[in-house]
Amino acid sequence: MIWTAGVKAVDSAKDFGFETARAGRIVVNQYSQIPNDPHIYVIGDVAMYDENGSGRGEPQVVQGAESAGKCAFKNILAQINGGEPTKFKGTYSGFMVSLGPSWGVASLVNTFHLSGFFAILMKDLVDMIYFIEIYSGYYLFHYIMNEWFRIKRPTLWRGNLNRYGNVLWTVPLRIFLGMMWLIDCWYKVQGSGSWFSNKLQLHFPWLAQAATSGATSKAAATTAASGKAAAASANAVQFSLNYDYGHSPMAVFDQMPSWVQSMTKAVIPNKAAALNAQKIMTVVEILLGVLLVIGLCTFLAGGMSAAFIAIFCLSGMNYWVNVWMFFAAIAVMNGSGRSFGLDMWFVPWLEKTLGKARYGVLRPIYHVDKNGVKN
Ligand SMILES: Cc1cc2nc3c(=O)[nH]c(=O)nc-3n(C[C@H](O)[C@H](O)[C@H](O)COP(=O)(O)OP(=O)(O)OC[C@H]3O[C@@H](n4cnc5c(N)ncnc54)[C@H](O)[C@@H]3O)c2cc1C
Repeated sequence: MIWTAGVKAVDSAKDFGFETARAGRIVVNQYSQIPNDPHIYVIGDVAMYDENGSGRGEPQVVQGAESAGKCAFKNILAQINGGEPTKFKGTYSGFMVSLGPSWGVASLVNTFHLSGFFAILMKDLVDMIYFIEIYSGYYLFHYIMNEWFRIKRPTLWRGNLNRYGNVLWTVPLRIFLGMMWLIDCWYKVQGSGSWFSNKLQLHFPWLAQAATSGATSKAAATTAASGKAAAASANAVQFSLNYDYGHSPMAVFDQMPSWVQSMTKAVIPNKAAALNAQKIMTVVEILLGVLLVIGLCTFLAGGMSAAFIAIFCLSGMNYWVNVWMFFAAIAVMNGSGRSFGLDMWFVPWLEKTLGKARYGVLRPIYHVDKNGVKN
């Protein structure tokens, strides 16, 4: 449907007794004031400032209304404090026309002309910037969810982000991934090699001196991310994506890239910090495992798992055979906790609670009670 009705001033504009022009808009001067009364300002759709005498005035769009708002604000301050008034100047960064969720055209700063994907992307970015400007992460989140994920029609991403896909089939993967974290931690919490003991398990070069006693790690090669690449490097390493450990498995990164090294060194400068870090890491891994198994905060747990695996890889603590965990973690970010998981109840509750906490409860001003009485 293409709507071409146009925009006019609110009907009550004519009741004020000021001069009106096209579309019922109230005529103002270059300072956004009523010409005969500089103490009355009129701004936005209802105002008609016709600089070049075309009879059309400024476009009735948000950018024009905001420019007029700023002009009036400055001039009211100037009137109070004494100063020169500012002339109205409409600032228009661009115009966009969106035709449904996936088509549109845009003209930016009167120079760049976009259509299709880029025009809609620009529209989405402008909308998102607005939510950032009003500090509303809540509405930003809902905008992204509604425009990209919850919509059934083709979107900017041509349906690729549509969340109406079946998430049931990733439930086994989610539980398996969670179990992998837990199994990995099982080896880290028990025995003399426990990550909770005071035996150093993080084999970073700058800790080597302090860690001579703990450097002889026994590679617990069965599971993910436990990080024994340094110990394995003495043997012949072999690239492999299967679990044949006839040869030493190949670490994704033999050594940390230098930028990772300097960042890690800043966070874990010495043995004491490393011992704390290895305990915290184990607790987080257990938490991730539990969350994934019970399907609670799946999106977050999946994202954090992926980030953890990436960090392990970059730290020279992960093998190629375990890289699947990274992709599995991304896959379970699809919110598979919504089927067979606690997210089915937790996520709607969280959204409702956050919405209420930030914006209160919406209530109509005019209420009709159960007897049909308006109050
Ligand atoms: C369907 C539609 C789509 C639009 N899409 C876009 C777009 O994509 N981009 C864009 O830039 N612009 C768009 N516009 C135009 C844009 O909404 C307006 O230019 C902008 O809102 C003007 O801001 P304003 O503050 O002047 O008026 P408004 O935002 O209309 O605010 C005026 C307020 O005054 C209140 N009011 C009216 N009479 C009285 C009274 N007697 N007493 C007390 N309060 C009163 C109204 O309820 C209203 O809340 C669209 C307009 C419409 C109708």
